Amino acid sequence: MDLFKPMDSANNAPSEIKELEVKEHHKCLILGSGAAGYTAAIYAARANLSPVMYTGMQMGGQLTTTTEVDNFPGYPEGIDGTSMMEDLKKQAERFGTQVRFGLATSVDFSGKVKKVVVDENTLITADSVILATGATAKYLGLESEEKFKGFGVSACATCDGFFYRDKVVAVVGGGDTAAEEASYLAGICKKVYLIVRRDELRASKAMQKRVINTENIEVLWKHQTKELKGEQVVTSVELYKNKGETNEEITEVTIDGFFLAIGHTPNSDVFKEFIDTDETGYVNTVPGTSKTNVPGIFACGDLQDKTYRQAVTAAGTGCMAALDAERYLGDLE
Ligand code: NAP
Repeated sequence: MDLFKPMDSANNAPSEIKELEVKEHHKCLILGSGAAGYTAAIYAARANLSPVMYTGMQMGGQLTTTTEVDNFPGYPEGIDGTSMMEDLKKQAERFGTQVRFGLATSVDFSGKVKKVVVDENTLITADSVILATGATAKYLGLESEEKFKGFGVSACATCDGFFYRDKVVAVVGGGDTAAEEASYLAGICKKVYLIVRRDELRASKAMQKRVINTENIEVLWKHQTKELKGEQVVTSVELYKNKGETNEEITEVTIDGFFLAIGHTPNSDVFKEFIDTDETGYVNTVPGTSKTNVPGIFACGDLQDKTYRQAVTAAGTGCMAALDAERYLGDLE
């Protein structure tokens, strides 16, 4: 299998990099502060790599947008996502990680010394870089969706489904994620509406069968979300049926929860010139490792995982990235 394209980007460094003076050099730079980034930091710091982390715009990553995390091993009573990420940050700092707020805005990975520009104005170089910038769940872009985030609107059924036990929820999307999340929620909730914009699902045949054969899932074919309604929390969703057609109508369904499952966007744009990704932007890693096509650059977490996307799997791959970086740096010496 041809996993990687050859790297032909030497001397293609963005002009802003050429104009900046190097501010600092580090052994190990970590970009991103989700479960993957912090776990990489804990391992890298304990291995004396003196890691420096730039957190990205959303410090703590996607978990800070969820409420309770009940499925991360070690928290028998559950923990809210923000507290968990603060704990991970403290743990990373305890072993000497420097955690800094900042966003990688351009990179040059063409040479042995890796270059990263932070916030468009600070050039940092490093011997190794761990990419842990995650993925961002896609939202529909409705005002009401923004208003109810965390109050009935979620983009993660495995994270938040439990709070809707015996309630009525809706899932938007027609792909494998939507089918999987609808099936998962059907095991918890009284009823699940699957809002599908076309008259067919994109999901695999097996997942389609599962959805259709689940009694408490009702597929709303050719429906699109118009607006969410409620006071403090979501209480209903207004939908277009047959939008744009002569028989277009508006309907309303009473729900307690609204789950987005219309895909994720991996945050790989800034690396794309140097790092090999699949057609949807997920970073390709050598199977069973965190190695990318560029020696010294390692990827972990949701940035390279479109299948599992769990905090615990992100943490696991973060650990792998730090161990791979440690071995790489050891070989350099
Ligand atoms: P996806 O395959 O891109 O599907 C996104 C779905 O959301 C599509 O049905 C799409 O509708 C719908 N959608 C997009 N924008 C929308 C909008 N604005 N309004 C309403 N609906 C909208 O994404 P995914 O399901 O997250 O899967 C991503 C990849 O991961 C896929 O390759 C999938 O096979 C894989 N995956 C695999 C597994 C597994 O193997 N267990 C589990 C999850 C995901 P249209 O169909 O009309 O475009």
